[in-house]
Amino acid sequence: MKKKKSFKIKLIIFLFVILMICLIYIKVKDFVSNKDSTSLQMREVFENVSKSEYVDVTKYIVYGTHFNIEGTVEIPKISEISISKASVIIKNLKGEEQILESDYSYKNGVLAFSTIEEINTGLDLEKLEIEQYYFLLKVVFSNNEEKYYSLENKTDYKNITYYTVTKNESNNKIDIGFNTYENIPFMQIQVSKASELPKDVYDIVIDPGHGGKDSGAINGKNSEADIVLNAAMILKNKLEASGYKVLLTRDEKLPEDTNTAYNMYDDDGRITIINEAHSKILISLHLNSNSAKLSSGGVEVYAPSECNLDFAKLLAKNIVKTANTSYSSLTAYKQDEGVYVRNFTNADILSFESSAKKSGYKPYEITTSTPYLYVIREIGGIITNAFVDGRNKIYSANKYCNSNVGTEGYLIELGYMSIDKDLKNITKHSDLYMQAIVNSIKEKFN
Ligand SMILES: [Zn+2]
Repeated sequence: MKKKKSFKIKLIIFLFVILMICLIYIKVKDFVSNKDSTSLQMREVFENVSKSEYVDVTKYIVYGTHFNIEGTVEIPKISEISISKASVIIKNLKGEEQILESDYSYKNGVLAFSTIEEINTGLDLEKLEIEQYYFLLKVVFSNNEEKYYSLENKTDYKNITYYTVTKNESNNKIDIGFNTYENIPFMQIQVSKASELPKDVYDIVIDPGHGGKDSGAINGKNSEADIVLNAAMILKNKLEASGYKVLLTRDEKLPEDTNTAYNMYDDDGRITIINEAHSKILISLHLNSNSAKLSSGGVEVYAPSECNLDFAKLLAKNIVKTANTSYSSLTAYKQDEGVYVRNFTNADILSFESSAKKSGYKPYEITTSTPYLYVIREIGGIITNAFVDGRNKIYSANKYCNSNVGTEGYLIELGYMSIDKDLKNITKHSDLYMQAIVNSIKEKFN
């Protein structure tokens, strides 16, 4: 009896060991074949790629939630054959191609392309699946021949790490960078699940304007700095309740001697805080004063230059509707109802040049498409022509003025301090104004 029982136990242990060995074998085989199939798929991706000519990448940028790229490639002219189409594609390991709309020109044997039409459109990083993608330039010739070119970095930009906006407490991590495959240089986007958002990465930054010595506009006992700070805290709470990670550029009254107008580029200055938050958007809150002598107040949303204005329009529309206010009647710089783009004018440029001359420093390179509002301009790096590099001794340098990653910034003048109806509405119903902003952000990100 006893002998039989111990035989049974031995048999069970034996079978269990066999089962374990089988499972380990299957796992190892799977791992090896996965690795094999990845290199096989990579070989397929690079199969038709030119082995002698590569695209020189001259610019690659991330602004807000979107990626764009520019570059050139030498394509020797063959008589009778012309180029019928050139587009940047991203290709995954399954061989699926996604086209990035691009403009191109072909001159003297050099093809130049750019995907930048509006700085806040292009490849939507929020919509990429968890996968590995390779950038290629696909050129179609008039004889229907197709040629693929791999991309080589000719910039001094660093690799980009981007975290998607928090959704259901989760984020993807996106690494954009360069590598080589069998001596072929290539550019890739790797999308993976992030275990958590790093401590210093935020979805949204809110900037209550002014503060410290700088009270902003005043009407009786009311100061712009105090009203927008209160509104900003309401907005932060509401956004956090919707699951977003939010940072304020200031969250209490600054000491009286803090002159925020001049230290915005220092380590604790608002521009540095925004640049270091790696957030997708910035909302800067302000109240207007009636220098334009308007008889009625209303909302003005200031957007970046050369961008798609849908979000700015949404903000203006939602604030007017939810907070029961009106669009501003200001006509200068107006693009749409309540939507404004304030760039440098020729007169502004001349006055900047003359003060540079007076103070003895080299003037900045400003054009009429450079955003005038520093809080929009200086958080977008090269994308928004940030220029404060310390040559004007009044300001310290913006450490991020050469960055190829930028935060999409909006400045909202909620209404006019100087107009009683606006002031009353804002002080009484800040929560409605802020709810309108929350609704707009949710719509943008979903
Ligand atoms: Zn202001």
